[in-house]
Amino acid sequence: MKILLVHNFYQYRGGEDTYFLALKSLLESHKHTVITFSKDSRDIKDNITSKINLVIGLFYNKKVKKEFSEILKREKPDIVHSNNLYPLIGLSIYKLSKDLNIPVIQTIHNYRMICPGGYLFNDEGKPCIHASHGFSLRKIFQNCYRGSYIDSTILYLSQNYYKLLGTYSFVDYFLFPSQFILNTHKNYINISLKKARVLPYFTQCKKMTKFTKGNDFFLFVGLFSHKKGVIELLKTFTTLPECKLIVIGDGPLKSDVLKFKKFKNIIIAGKKSKREVGKYMKEALCTIIPSKWYEVGPMVMYESLAYNTPVIVPRIGVFKEVVSEGQNGFFFKFNDFSNLRRKIKMVLEQKNELFKNVPNESLLEHKNTEAEYYRTLISIYKKALEEHFLQLELK
Ligand SMILES: [Zn+2]
Repeated sequence: MKILLVHNFYQYRGGEDTYFLALKSLLESHKHTVITFSKDSRDIKDNITSKINLVIGLFYNKKVKKEFSEILKREKPDIVHSNNLYPLIGLSIYKLSKDLNIPVIQTIHNYRMICPGGYLFNDEGKPCIHASHGFSLRKIFQNCYRGSYIDSTILYLSQNYYKLLGTYSFVDYFLFPSQFILNTHKNYINISLKKARVLPYFTQCKKMTKFTKGNDFFLFVGLFSHKKGVIELLKTFTTLPECKLIVIGDGPLKSDVLKFKKFKNIIIAGKKSKREVGKYMKEALCTIIPSKWYEVGPMVMYESLAYNTPVIVPRIGVFKEVVSEGQNGFFFKFNDFSNLRRKIKMVLEQKNELFKNVPNESLLEHKNTEAEYYRTLISIYKKALEEHFLQLELK
């Protein structure tokens, strides 16, 4: 099969970018021809012309339309598989693909169809108004996208403009990484269940053969931002001098994170390569995911489990679909950091008892393995293609 993968890379690389690259190599490893159409938010220049072009592009992006049409006509892919489209690509690619009878698959990585920021969460660290039901004028003027009222309003208007044009109807299948995110979308927007599939993220199974936990440290890997709860986690560890925490990542709150360097039990390791992250994960006692937003399916969770390292996660959404208490992780009460503190203490104090039953094979569930992901994805691609041929014959 010839597959065109589409993605807008983020300024701070995260799980969606990791997924996109992993998907590309997964398809290639099965001998498919993969071509990519990508943009990079790091290329956005901080000047007024660039900003104006960006705003216009959210409604009508002549350059992207031309580039994308050319790649479709030149490469003639069987499938277009789209990922993040904001802010440099936009939704116009759906119709361009449909005009050439090419099926479109869209993986939903966040809540952007509901909230311009994508997280139902704003930069002040609180749930945004888009998490409430029904229409209100206040929803237009919010700052959940990049903390800017102007940017958020423009993106919100652009999304609703495309919604009014019926753009989402050009998508053949929406892939949701968890049942929870599918349910959430169903509650907010009119999405046909015929077009929705739950396809959990995947990661390579590391096939650990030996359970060695020599270093008693806890690990955080992720974006330094409010929604990831990194500051609350660091504050929690300042009251747990007997517990060691290693923090890996980068992001807008970097300077705030670095202030915690003065605590002896906290190591801010900063940005690390995928390979280095793997080394830390393998050795950690537990990986902590203290997120304050309803995560869609954090790659860190799957990677940690693949390294046979249990996770400490809030008892919400996707975590409940993947984690079983005491089996491959531990829950704490969502947004309750004193409860998280108690959990961390408990894990450290009872580690010998808790970890004696951890199996030697990966803690990753079968549904999150590469093989299972590939099997399901290809069946969805094939179904979309069959339906397209049928429609063509009926025309
Ligand atoms: Zn919002």
